[in-house]
Amino acid sequence: MPDLETVIGLEVHAQMNTKSKMFCGCDNDAFGKPPNTTVCPICMGHPGTLPAPNEEAIKKAMKASLAIGCKIQEENHFDRKHYFYPDLPPGFQISQYDFPLSTKGEVKFNISDDSGNKVGDVRVCGITRLHMENDAGKLTHRGEKTLCDYNRAGTPLVEIVTEPDLRSPEEAVAFAQELRRILIAVNSSEADMFKGMMRFDASVSLREKGSKKLNPRSEIKNLNSFKSLERALTYEIKRLGKKWEEEGGPLKNDITVGWVDDDEQTKMLRDKETAMDYRYFPEPDIPPLRFTKKDIEKLKAEMPALPSELKLKYEEMGLEDFEVRMLIDQPYFRIIFDKVAEETKDVKRSRSIVLTQLAGFIKSDDGKEKPDEDFVTEQIIALIADERITKNQEKEYLKDIVDGMTVEQIVKDKGVRDVDESEMEELIEKAIEANPQAVESFKAGKEQAIGAIVGWVMKESGGQADPARVNEMLKKKL
Ligand SMILES: [Zn+2]
Repeated sequence: MPDLETVIGLEVHAQMNTKSKMFCGCDNDAFGKPPNTTVCPICMGHPGTLPAPNEEAIKKAMKASLAIGCKIQEENHFDRKHYFYPDLPPGFQISQYDFPLSTKGEVKFNISDDSGNKVGDVRVCGITRLHMENDAGKLTHRGEKTLCDYNRAGTPLVEIVTEPDLRSPEEAVAFAQELRRILIAVNSSEADMFKGMMRFDASVSLREKGSKKLNPRSEIKNLNSFKSLERALTYEIKRLGKKWEEEGGPLKNDITVGWVDDDEQTKMLRDKETAMDYRYFPEPDIPPLRFTKKDIEKLKAEMPALPSELKLKYEEMGLEDFEVRMLIDQPYFRIIFDKVAEETKDVKRSRSIVLTQLAGFIKSDDGKEKPDEDFVTEQIIALIADERITKNQEKEYLKDIVDGMTVEQIVKDKGVRDVDESEMEELIEKAIEANPQAVESFKAGKEQAIGAIVGWVMKESGGQADPARVNEMLKKKL
């Protein structure tokens, strides 16, 4: 048995987060809506209807292309891909075949451990192409019956096809996660895995180590979570390895399999299948798309910061891997952190308040609506600026901010936590009188003796005085 190497390539489908569908004006957000309520004669494929391409979707697909380093083809067009399935009422899908929107890109990514720390070197996966197409409807099988919901039919998709550059299930998942971050960063897709907005077909084959040959592959269809992507690939690699051992070589031809989550195994769907079977031809109802260099330059200028650029920026600020990951993955905290750090010029405190304390109060995936980020940002800046607020109070105040209170209100409501000037003077006088020994030690040069006096003031004020201020005033007095 020779030493074998795994070769993996992915096809990734991501739903674009446009207002309307790809070729009609139907609402593109069907989540939670009753079946077959966001449909019209166009997305239902009625004879005589005409598709009209969605400009917003094309722009989003172009931005996704640029974000993965692909070159946009100035001339490209839609094609019809024919096949019959009950979830596809027109009997064909409008896709792009020989002239896709963009080609030849690459995505750099890292593998991370469970706590978000990088493992190993930067990897690169080539991107063959990105094209646009429309999604099919959704079938639900109930016993003998199958229910059809066409709300999803016509939703704009980007399909991203990679080169066979991935070498393990772990790499495939890390790449897919980075791709998801990129699509979210450029606002092309929400890429919400729970809602099926991102799905994968994974092709895997084995070859002898050192060989450059691409052997026939097994394509695992329709994986809709990172977990199933990893499990399905792990299973299939093992299965192909066993087959190699028994038959003395790779698969004889390409095959298509499905992943059955409950059984934790793949099952055969189709033997062999070629593009010829789909009878592609240029979509006669939509004129070719033409972009000028100027169109593309304009889009480039509008591109937001990509995850790789953010990573560099935060690493330079001295943040830990897991903090960088959090800021990239959760734009809510990123928006707040960026503004607070910029405004206060205090990276250390911004980190502790936004990335540790605030993140403790606001969970990103509990489905609850988050407090308005502008409000929270403004209040955190006010919190840091208010020198009367001590570190001990900070956390409690932050909780109130999350509940919708302003710093001003909190201070007013809970009473000024700090003690006012004259009261403080009085307290300090008393403290000096009550702690003659500590005062003497301090005057004799024992700096830390002041701690005892500060402690006395804190106790006397019921924890309301600001220790830093007490310290300062005491020193002045003594
Ligand atoms: Zn429609």
